[in-house]
Amino acid sequence: MASRVIPVEPFDLVIFGGTGDLARRKILPALYRRFVAGQFGADTRLIGAARTAMDSAAWRDLIAEALDEFTTGAGDGATREAFLAMLSYVTLDARGEEGWTALSGQMRDDRIRAFYFSVAPALFGDLAERLHLHGLIDETARIVVEKPFGHDLDSARALNRTLAQHFCEHQIYRIDHYLGKETVQNLMAIRFGNVLFEPLWNSQYVDHIQITVAETVGIGGRAEYYNHAGAMRDMVQNHLMQLLCLIAMEPPARFAPDPVRDEKLKVIRALDPVAPGDVVRGQYGGDGTQPDFRTQAGHGDSTTESFIALKAQISNWRWAGTPFYLRTGKRLRARTSEIAVVFKDAPHSIFGAEAGRHRNILTIRLQPNEGIELGVTIKEPGPGGMRLIDVPLDMTFAEALGPEEADFPDAYERLIMDVIRGNQTLFMRGDEVEAAWAWTDPIIAVWQAEQEPPLPYDTGSAGPEEALMLMHRDGRRWREIKP
Ligand code: NAP
Repeated sequence: MASRVIPVEPFDLVIFGGTGDLARRKILPALYRRFVAGQFGADTRLIGAARTAMDSAAWRDLIAEALDEFTTGAGDGATREAFLAMLSYVTLDARGEEGWTALSGQMRDDRIRAFYFSVAPALFGDLAERLHLHGLIDETARIVVEKPFGHDLDSARALNRTLAQHFCEHQIYRIDHYLGKETVQNLMAIRFGNVLFEPLWNSQYVDHIQITVAETVGIGGRAEYYNHAGAMRDMVQNHLMQLLCLIAMEPPARFAPDPVRDEKLKVIRALDPVAPGDVVRGQYGGDGTQPDFRTQAGHGDSTTESFIALKAQISNWRWAGTPFYLRTGKRLRARTSEIAVVFKDAPHSIFGAEAGRHRNILTIRLQPNEGIELGVTIKEPGPGGMRLIDVPLDMTFAEALGPEEADFPDAYERLIMDVIRGNQTLFMRGDEVEAAWAWTDPIIAVWQAEQEPPLPYDTGSAGPEEALMLMHRDGRRWREIKP
């Protein structure tokens, strides 16, 4: 069973930063795969724009190399040529006047227009202003902006204000690529498409929730940016916060942009301030073969965290009393992302104390092996009396759907097509981003005031010991970080 492709209207997409890493690694490969799938036809224009002087042929060569590297096996030779024929390039400086008339000449009046800001956020304002000055914004125009959206509440507000001078909110697509992941959308399907879970989805039945996003890589090529940001700004304020919102939100009336985003916003606003004792920050050390964080960051006294574990509480009727434990870090034991909903014990065990403690856990795995697993308690087979064991009801998508169906599109494929469709459901609204910063800022302010260095942890570990204690002291424990 092949998945259904509903074609989008032809469009003109300008990629500012068309020579950059994100454009080569993610945006153009995603567009290519959608073209191969038949989601749009050759009557579309993909226009790269950056300062580097080059002609369209040179940009096509650059992108052809990127397709070789990042889309192995997709499409045949003719499809590839047809895709490359849609590409053109304009040399242009976001901060200068040159190139804008040439860009304007390439845009067609009767096509959907989208502008992807794949450049440093410091240039977003310049781009918005020049698009406006050069008459490039019509009623179909929309812009896509990348993370980071601000560095704190003040800068996010300033950025929202700048964009609002030239664009309406319905034209602004703030990307959080976690929302484009198939399993994250499945989380909503599981919750709101089944009657099984929703009645249990509250503090009466859920003991706690764990969200883990663990990476094995260090800060590598992003050292300068990362040393300035840290795990809290780079991961928790956006990606983990979005996962928390989707787990915790009330059922929206419709799966549509504002109903969904209204419910997410309510969750963020219901988050309690986090007590300093409920946060653990860590920084990875070297392991003989790889340098430590400070060496990689180029700052011997860096106090930036590469690991965070924290306990969040949501003060509303549904979740009061059910903690959400969030954890993310680099150079950890395995690359894995999962959400675990840990249900409470049965109110009374008819099998006696010797049957032990058994709990249902619903695990939503984002990577690797995307899928959903429900741990259930059954009788251990055999004649030896009523002994209980836990077994997983496992729905690894690749097994349940077949390898073809489970070959999920990259998050960018889904999200860019949503931009063209004009569907903002999986994009963050300005007030949502600001509310997330309003919750994050005070946590960071405490660290800045205290000037305490983060706790060291070993490469290949599960983070600092103190992160384990964060749960042990509540009589709970983290799930193992394993591949
Ligand atoms: P990058 O590799 O440094 O590319 C930056 C791009 O911007 C280049 O094409 C550069 O080309 C262009 N540029 C720089 N100054 C410009 C100017 N004044 N006018 C016009 N173009 C200009 O950065 P990137 O990694 O692709 O990241 C782009 C954006 O995506 C950033 O906001 C980043 O935070 C975000 N992001 C990236 C990733 C990722 O995996 N790479 C992930 C999440 C978010 P010229 O030098 O030729 O002008």
